[in-house]
Amino acid sequence: MNLARRMSRLGTESAFEVLARAKALEAQGHDIINLGIGAPDFHTPANIVDAGCRALVDGYHFYTPAKGLPDLRAAVTEDIKKYRGVDVDPNHVMIVPGGKPTMFFAMLMFGEEGREILYPNPGFPIYESMIEFSGAKAVPIELREESGFTFDPDEVLAKITPATSLMIINTPANPTGGLIGKAELDRLVEGLEAHPHVTILSDEIYSRMTYDGLEHQSLLAYESIRDRTILLDGWSKTYSMTGWRLGFGVWPADLIDQAERLQINSNSCPSAPVQMAGIEAFRGPQDEVDKMMKTFDERRKLIVDGLNAIPGFSCVMPRGAFYAFPNITGTGMSSRDLQNLLLTKAGVATVSGTSFGAMGEGYIRFSYAAGTEEIERALERVANCLQTA
Ligand code: PLP
Repeated sequence: MNLARRMSRLGTESAFEVLARAKALEAQGHDIINLGIGAPDFHTPANIVDAGCRALVDGYHFYTPAKGLPDLRAAVTEDIKKYRGVDVDPNHVMIVPGGKPTMFFAMLMFGEEGREILYPNPGFPIYESMIEFSGAKAVPIELREESGFTFDPDEVLAKITPATSLMIINTPANPTGGLIGKAELDRLVEGLEAHPHVTILSDEIYSRMTYDGLEHQSLLAYESIRDRTILLDGWSKTYSMTGWRLGFGVWPADLIDQAERLQINSNSCPSAPVQMAGIEAFRGPQDEVDKMMKTFDERRKLIVDGLNAIPGFSCVMPRGAFYAFPNITGTGMSSRDLQNLLLTKAGVATVSGTSFGAMGEGYIRFSYAAGTEEIERALERVANCLQTA
């Protein structure tokens, strides 16, 4: 087959591969505890499920406007006002099937041979994959454990060249659980003012998932870069709706029509009944989200304490999202070998740090989207496995 060359540059998201291997082992009768995939394990709140079912019964069976239902776009602007304190024009909001399409569209708009795109490393694997696919050069923003997996803004700014077209920032972050502070973002934005050719993709899909009273700081709140900031967010994580496929982007005035055209060329529009569920999620009661975050917080402490008690592991306390990202260099094993050992010998699915970029070597990701009892059993299995390895 005469396949396009760019297909050889397309990567993947290893968490899905680990999930497939874990399922295959389960099918063979193995007992696997899955701490690999980044999906909350809670049921979507009942009021949201009811709204989706009602929409199907009420006849939401057809195409909607490409950018999404006007009422949902209005609900998005209300949510942004409530949680980010920013006024957004609903015409700049585009609803998409999940968080990923906004990312995909931004890469298609800004990536090509001769361009450079800055992205966090370790970071969500699709960034590097899609940058490579687009033909652009992937330039890592290195996130280091010593600084709680944030970055030095001046180091990031120094990486900008005339070829830089896009900078991706993710806070709170996958896979590190890092949260970028206001001081770092203030300095970054100040520096970006000298580089008006750089567009910013701010992936804030974990914006509601922070701990210890820490506040998520949105890049959308910075007036000086508003006309070149793309906000990515969605319902997957906050409302435990990963399988519904619902997300949104807020696009600058100069890009929204291009984004809409990409949507028309790919998805046509997001699913109509799912959009109705999205309205209920934003406008309905939020106590299920609060409850979920309280549970995540308890698990966070449990897993970090447990990991730190395992010889060879050391784990900083995540400040957002629902991942622990321990340093495993003390085990003497590579991340990939340890991931494989834990899956096949301990029956615990995790994701090697290298699945999130070269800077992830020496780390392994545990998602704590699992029950307390499962986490306790997983920790015991990991400890026993390493003792006998
Ligand atoms: N951005 C980050 C940082 C993520 O971790 C994820 C999912 O894991 C996504 C985007 C994609 O979200 P969705 O599943 O809604 O496409």
